[in-house]
Formats: sequence, structure tokens, C-alpha cells
Amino acid sequence: MDLKEKVAIITGGSRGIGLSIAEAFLAEGASAFICGRDEATAQAAVKRLSAAGAGRVDGCACDVRRYEDCRAMVARAAERFGGLDILVNNAGIGIFKPVDQLAPEEWDSTITTNLSGVFYCSREAIPHLRKRGGGYIINISSLAGVNAFPGGAAYNASKFGLNGFSEAMMQDVRYDGIRVSYVMPGSVDTAFSGRESGEASWKLAGEDVARAVVDLVKFPSRALASRIELRPSRPKK
Ligand code: NAP
Repeated sequence: MDLKEKVAIITGGSRGIGLSIAEAFLAEGASAFICGRDEATAQAAVKRLSAAGAGRVDGCACDVRRYEDCRAMVARAAERFGGLDILVNNAGIGIFKPVDQLAPEEWDSTITTNLSGVFYCSREAIPHLRKRGGGYIINISSLAGVNAFPGGAAYNASKFGLNGFSEAMMQDVRYDGIRVSYVMPGSVDTAFSGRESGEASWKLAGEDVARAVVDLVKFPSRALASRIELRPSRPKK
């Protein structure tokens, strides 16, 4: 897919990996529509991206835990840029606690953000992609979607679930010309889960994940790399 003239939604594009993905799409000449829960952060990111990018960019507040928000956000993006070609389901949270210390609200929030939000946005995006004769949905999962660890019950469950969801959806829509892939990064240097960013040089950068996303979309349409594991080359020992 040539990205010029294409329209992409990036959920959670207001910072971290999502912001890098939006930057990468804009650099390829695509239009980018971003969202996050916080309107001010989303608008600040739009401003920053429009100052830097060649493509068109816009965004709004959308809490992917709410179906109505996702419905309105996808409709707004498609109206703003005259259609939709690519959805990147990137918004995600991580709450890391053993099961007996995890509050039910923390469990719900993790599963609803990382899994239900992907369903809500994909459900709304698919008719728009079909209207264009095809498109791409890329879900940002994690190596935590294949490797469980202590304290990871909610996050692991959400990402293991996301992998299964992605593989089933891929088979639902492939004959409509819609490709579905999921990317599983290892540790990425962002402020994810309250961490400080910029502290660990061994980690992946958001730009690395963005490159994987852009490369996937640019593969010839006959080819579908349905899952990518992206690891730091030299993780901390
Ligand atoms: P981040 O820096 O914390 O950014 C998360 C983004 O998601 C922000 O834009 C945030 O904006 C948005 N967001 C969170 N909850 C949302 C909601 N309910 N509705 C809409 N937007 C929401 O995290 P990141 O490191 O870039 O992570 C992005 C994705 O990569 C996640 O799915 C994460 O699981 C995955 N991942 C991260 C790593 C890592 O080490 N960083 C590794 C593997 C996979 P607001 O706060 O304003 O809502």
C-alpha cells in the first residue's frame, strides 16, 4: 500500500508509541487521526505533529473503554479526511499486581482498554475500510501476549486475548481486502505504566515499533505478515 493519500487512525496517538506511529505515517504522506482520553494532551500532540509533518493531522478525546466514544471518534476521523484506510489499535494500559492485590476495577479497566477497545474501534472501522475496497488493521499487542509473568495477570490476559482476537478477525475480513496484523514489542522506552522514559538505552524506541507498523502496511497486498515479535537486541541481563 502506498501511504500517500491514505488515512490512518492511531488510538493512543497522543504520546509514546502511538505518537511515533502517527509521526511515521505523516512522514509517508498519510493523514493521521489520533486520540487519547485527555483532550488537552491529544490537542497538544496534534499541534506538535502539524508543526512537524507533511501530512494532515487531527485528533480528539476518546476513551476506548466506551463504545460510544469509539463510534463517534471513527466517524469523525472518516468525515474529517474523507474515508479511512488504516486503523492502529495502540491505546493500552498496564497495571501490574498479583491477583489477590488487583482491584476488580483495575482488572476491568485493563481488559476494557486493551481488549474491548480494540473490538469497539475495529467494529466501527471495518465498514469504512470495506468502502475503500480494503485496508489494514494493526493491533499493538506485546510479548506479554505470549509470555506470562508474576504480577501480569490482567495485562497478560488482555494481550493473550488480543492475539486471539486479532487472528480470528484476520480470518473474518481477509477476503474483503482487509489485512490484520498484531505487533508484539518487548520493552519500549516510554512512560508506560507510570515509568520514566528516556532512562534505558537497551530498550526499543517508539520509532522502532512505528517502523514495523509502516513496513507491514507497505508489504505487497498479496502478503500478510500476521504477527511480529519485536525484541530489544541486547536486553538487560
Ligand atoms: P503510553 O506512553 O502510556 O501511551 C499510552 C497511550 O494510550 C496514550 O496516548 C494514552 O493517552 C492512551 N490511552 C490510555 N488509555 C486510553 C483509553 N482508555 N482510551 C484512549 N486512549 C488511551 O504507553 P506506550 O508505551 O506508548 O504503549 C502503547 C501500546 O504499546 C500499549 O498497548 C502497550 O500495551 C503496548 N506496549 C508497550 C510496551 C512498552 O514497554 N512501553 C511494550 C509492549 C507493548 P491518555 O492517557 O490521554 O488516555
